[in-house]
Formats: sequence, C-alpha cells, structure tokens
Amino acid sequence: MRAARFDAATGELAVRDVPVPQPGPGEVLVRVAACGICQSDLSQLDGHIRPRLPEITPGHEAAGVVAALGAGVRNRQLGDRVVIAAGKECGECPECLLGGGTDRCEDLQVLAFHYDGAWAEYVLTSAVSLVDVPESVPLEHAAVLADAVSTPYGALDTAQLRPAESVGVWGLGGIGTHLVQLARICGASPIIALDPLESARERAIGLGADFALDPGDPDVAARIAEITGGRGLRAAFDCVGRSTTFTQADAALGHRGRLVLVGISPDRLAVGPEIHFVRNRHTVIGHTGYRMRHLEDLVELTDRGRLDVSGSVSAVLPLDEVAEGIRRLREHEGDPIRILLRP
Ligand SMILES: [Zn+2]
Ligand SMILES: [Zn+2]
Repeated sequence: MRAARFDAATGELAVRDVPVPQPGPGEVLVRVAACGICQSDLSQLDGHIRPRLPEITPGHEAAGVVAALGAGVRNRQLGDRVVIAAGKECGECPECLLGGGTDRCEDLQVLAFHYDGAWAEYVLTSAVSLVDVPESVPLEHAAVLADAVSTPYGALDTAQLRPAESVGVWGLGGIGTHLVQLARICGASPIIALDPLESARERAIGLGADFALDPGDPDVAARIAEITGGRGLRAAFDCVGRSTTFTQADAALGHRGRLVLVGISPDRLAVGPEIHFVRNRHTVIGHTGYRMRHLEDLVELTDRGRLDVSGSVSAVLPLDEVAEGIRRLREHEGDPIRILLRP
C-alpha cells in the first residue's frame, strides 16, 4: 500500500510502498477514505512534539471502511463505515488495570504518534476505537469530526457549559471555528469570537458567533464588558495558548468564570494578581482530545442535520500530494479549516 512515512532522524516525509499491516487480536484494518492534516501533525514533523518512533505514518483524523478483522473481533463487520478515535488504552496504567479503557487511561497511546496513523491506504486500529458512520454522513465529514470537531466539543464539556452562558473564543482556526459552531448548537449566548484575521471573524459570524472582535483592538475589553452587560464571560476558550491570549481571556472572565486552554504553545502563563483571581473564583482548565462519547454525539448531530461540517472541508488532495497540503496549511493559504488526504 501507499503510505506517507516520516523519518525522525532526517525529518523527511515521503510517500512510499509499504506492506499492508495485518490486524492482531482485537484489532481492525480500516481502508482509509479520508484523513485530515492537523497542526499537531506539523508539530511532530517540525520536532516540537518529539517523535516517539524512528519512522512513523502521520495522520490521526481519519474515517474509512473496515477491511479486515483480527482474531476475536465480534463487534465489527467487513464494510462497516467508521470514524477512528485517535487513541487506544495503554493496558498497563492504574486506570487501565481497573478497566477504565480509552476514556480514563493515564498514558493514552495516540494514533500517528505512538503507532502508525492514516496518511496511508490502510490503518490498523483497536476494534473498540471506532464509531459507526451512517450512510447519510460522508466519510470526508466524518474525518473532520475526529479531533478538529471532537476536541472543541470535548472542551465545551470540560467547561461544563450550560445554555445561555456567555462564551468567548480566542483564535478562529480549525478548532476555534468549530468551537463557535458547537457553542451555538449547545445554546451558548452571547458568543464572542476573537481573531486578528477579518476573514476568520466573518466566517465565525456565519457559523453562529453573535459578535466578532479583533483582539488587537484597544477597546476589546470594554466591548466584551458592554456585550455581557458588565458581567464578563461565563466561559472563555483559548484556542491559541499564547500568554497574550490567555491574559486577555482571563481578564474578560466574570465571577466564577472558567477559562479552558485548548491551544498549545510553549509560553509561560500567569494569572495576574492572586487576589483578583481568587475573589472572582476563576477556574483555568487544560483540555486536550475527546472521549468516544463525544465522537458518537457528533456523528448523531451530523446525521440529524444539526451539525453541518461541509464548510470545513477546505480541500481534498490525493495522498501523493501530502507535501502540497502541508504547505497550504503552513502558509494558511486560503485560510483552510481542514485539508483532507484521500489515499
Ligand atoms: Zn488533529
Ligand atoms: Zn492506561
């Protein structure tokens, strides 16, 4: 089969012929229909996320069709349309020994980081890491649900968002744009979207933001105060993770406000005067990834027409053009939400 292979020593990525992997006990082989290119893939390619294996196939946002079953797999059939959750349990940590599974494992093994991913014609996965995709949901859309939509959806859960709560979203790339869309579905009100790019702000308005602000505008704090009737935000989501966005988002929180960190950066963060933070009972929570349940919810919402991610498929490229897809994402060419590979 064709697969994009990343060599950690040389830093090179090349599409090559490799053997089709064979499913072991409890595993399933999936014929990949579509797999996204994500910022975190770039982080591994650039060495910001240290590669764990000398050579690996990237790609952790995939959907496809079950092509082979390992021994003992009874919950799956050949031809099942599935979206792949990007993790499997380690089997050895205290939570795994208690039977916690992927949702509780303390050392989750992540697709495309701990084991081969889906920038390939086929990918191996655990039979319990799959969610069914009905015929009504295109596999390209299902691939977008994995990570790009499920991670922000999980972040709303982390914030314990309730309907009619005011929300601010900093950074309107793939994650933040979907966060706005999902906050709308979950009943947040008002929703304030913040990004320096005007095109990203306009897109957020189209997907359900009530207001879109430029975080570089000196009036931004006053605008948020005005929009929230002086109360500040109930929940803020920092999808950038820089100290500047963190500080601005924290300052915009109201009493008992929660700030969820979704973006990843090496910046050091400071909560400012302790008395302010404590008196206002602020919470700062780190968030990463999603649970199987989140992926199931999103397939349900898409199936019923509540959630439409068709606008999130920015381009579909053949696997051989992976380098072109990476270039477009790096250079923000056309401000892509998700570029997909079709092996
Ligand atoms: Zn991703
Ligand atoms: Zn574990």
